[in-house]
Amino acid sequence: MTVHEFDVAVIGGGLMGSAIAWGLAKAGQRTAVLDEGDIAYRASRGNFALVWVHSKGLGLAPYSAWTMRSSNAWADFADQLKQQTGVDVAFERPGGFHLSLSQAELEARASMMGRLQSQPGMQRFDYEIVDRDRVKAALPQVGPEVVGASYSRFDGHCNSLRLFRALNTGMQQLGVSYLPERRVESIAHESGEFRLVTARGEVRAAKIVLAAGIDNGRLGAMAGLDVPVRPQRGQIIVTEKVAPFMPYVVQNLRQTDEGGIMIGDSVEEAGADPAVTAPVIAVLAERAVRKFPLVAKLNVVRTWAALRVMTQDGFPIYDESTRCPGAFAASCHSGVTLCAAHALFLAPQIARGHLSADDFAPFSARRFDVQAAAA
Ligand SMILES: Cc1cc2nc3c(=O)[nH]c(=O)nc-3n(C[C@H](O)[C@H](O)[C@H](O)COP(=O)(O)OP(=O)(O)OC[C@H]3O[C@@H](n4cnc5c(N)ncnc54)[C@H](O)[C@@H]3O)c2cc1C
Repeated sequence: MTVHEFDVAVIGGGLMGSAIAWGLAKAGQRTAVLDEGDIAYRASRGNFALVWVHSKGLGLAPYSAWTMRSSNAWADFADQLKQQTGVDVAFERPGGFHLSLSQAELEARASMMGRLQSQPGMQRFDYEIVDRDRVKAALPQVGPEVVGASYSRFDGHCNSLRLFRALNTGMQQLGVSYLPERRVESIAHESGEFRLVTARGEVRAAKIVLAAGIDNGRLGAMAGLDVPVRPQRGQIIVTEKVAPFMPYVVQNLRQTDEGGIMIGDSVEEAGADPAVTAPVIAVLAERAVRKFPLVAKLNVVRTWAALRVMTQDGFPIYDESTRCPGAFAASCHSGVTLCAAHALFLAPQIARGHLSADDFAPFSARRFDVQAAAA
């Protein structure tokens, strides 16, 4: 019998890789996580921390259902992390608003939500298009330009830096070997075993999971997996802490559990450049003040930019390799929202060695071949 150093080696220790490794260890797999380290591009340290449901899935109905499944599992997941590690990731699901600043914006929002809900195969969920009075009753500090919103009771948020810490601590408590400063340079597959080559030596495993963010494209080519992802920049502002005034989550503007207001997040095709730019920050601030005028009085304590891991149609990729059996890939741009699903539903299937078609066929990168053929 071949002796593998590990049952599974996960490449990438961001939220995706850590959630999967945590779930693999829970399933009894001897797991290693190889991570490039803190200087790497890492969406997991710069995100907006929404666990957002209500506008996800236009163009791919199973993505809406997958998001809802993760959101429904989040409270239990957060509880498991707290029981295990003592870290409270501050998950709440108070419901979420997407505010509109003009009638045209509100109509476009209502139309988008209508199209989303009426797609074939859609598992419909409750949402509402609400007028200004309803918004004002829920969020009394809202500004005079807000004309209405879409609302769903399923949206929530967490403290995603604490989530990252809880997963890193939790997976190591479960026996995962966390190997930082181990950028995987190349992958070889021989005699049913994977060899991962790093500057600090090789790691061998029976299975591998590519969870290396925007490096998944390069790595995938070495393991028979097509993972077309690109960086997409998002900029965020955070203010000083203030007394709670937002009992709900608002997309692009939320009050953290610690009191600061996060304002975000831009969507920019800027390549792999995580720079903060004044014109974009100015637009984010201006729209935030129109939504909540009291924000104008708050001091900004920090701005930052981070790179999303974006697929070409914006939906996740979960795949297993036919050329190199035992190689899996996972990429998505909503890794906070989907964290519970990655840990609780995706990881056990990787542990078993196969992704079920029912759950994962819609998310294979093979969909891009169909889209290309149809174009
Ligand atoms: C501005 C912004 C706002 C966001 N807001 C939200 C939100 O509100 N809600 C939500 O659900 N999601 C949000 N996201 C997305 C979320 O942060 C990501 O989906 C998630 O963090 C992706 O995690 P990841 O582990 O796939 O990638 P990353 O965090 O990028 O991590 C990749 C990891 O792989 C490692 N790595 C890379 N190459 C190699 C290699 N060759 N060998 C070994 N290791 C390697 C790196 O060290 C890194 O740790 C946001 C993202 C951004 C940028």
